Amino acid sequence: MKTKLFSLAAAAMIASAPMAFAQQQFVSIGTGGVTGVYYPTGGAICRLVNKGRKEHGIRCSAESTGGSIYNINTIKAGELEFGVAQSDWQYHAYHGTSKFEEAGAFENLRAVFSVHAEPVTVIARDDAGIANISDVKGKRMNIGNPGSGTRGTWEVLEGALGWERSDLALAAEMKSAETGAAVCDGKIDAYFWLVGHPSALTQESLASCAAHLVDVTGPEIDALIADNSYYRKATIPAGMYNNAEDVTTFGVGATFVTSSDVPEDVVYVIVKAVFDNLDQFKKLHPAFAHLKPEEMINDGLSAPLHAGALKYYKEQGWK
Ligand code: GLU
Repeated sequence: MKTKLFSLAAAAMIASAPMAFAQQQFVSIGTGGVTGVYYPTGGAICRLVNKGRKEHGIRCSAESTGGSIYNINTIKAGELEFGVAQSDWQYHAYHGTSKFEEAGAFENLRAVFSVHAEPVTVIARDDAGIANISDVKGKRMNIGNPGSGTRGTWEVLEGALGWERSDLALAAEMKSAETGAAVCDGKIDAYFWLVGHPSALTQESLASCAAHLVDVTGPEIDALIADNSYYRKATIPAGMYNNAEDVTTFGVGATFVTSSDVPEDVVYVIVKAVFDNLDQFKKLHPAFAHLKPEEMINDGLSAPLHAGALKYYKEQGWK
């Protein structure tokens, strides 16, 4: 009798196993370098999603990647379900402009929500004689790895300044995670990137060697802001790092994107996990401290909202 009960139970387990397996769904979020803010953003989203895994069957993982443009292209290729991307590159990918002109418009790109602001951020060694972006001419600067949003935005800024690549003594192409050691070791004079604040890498560089944040201002920057809706004036507030004064610059927003090929119920589960637990989400990174739902579902989103996200926002009466 005992044996029979056991074997019945075992048979039931075997029968239900393939079903349980079929219900598991894996989703990956493309982020950026591990010392940036995209990587912990993906981690924070996945943490909230995975807490409800038993109910919805979705297992979420955050991957370190080359950044915004890599993430968008990899979503398009169907190899990532989600990604974090700068709002300027979301715009260009959806419209098929700038770096996306050759590939054509990615019409299935969908916005989910926006996250933190990403000011253009330049960290320079104190001995390099750099006080404003115009001073980096003739200097050695990291301009970002190919595939990063940072690199794409540098190319736009370089064009706006009327510079050639050779106007830098060295245009290094390191990934963000390598730039802190390079600037402190004197291999480069400065590094350029677009990132939320505070960020681990910026903090580490400014604390490890004599370096400072640089203003990114001038008539060319004013014109860029006036001509492009996805750029806005930005400041890195006094006291955020070792800066006694506000640092004046311009910037974009970090956004969370997907493809219309990702099912509505999957996107709905992810959006619900974040917004049902927004207070908890905001505590998962200091760059999230000032997030507000009304801004997160409107600002910096140029691709249409994914249907699964829109469903949740309508249920909340936000749309
Ligand atoms: N905005 C950067 C990029 O797309 C990434 C910043 C981060 O890793 O937090 O290249």
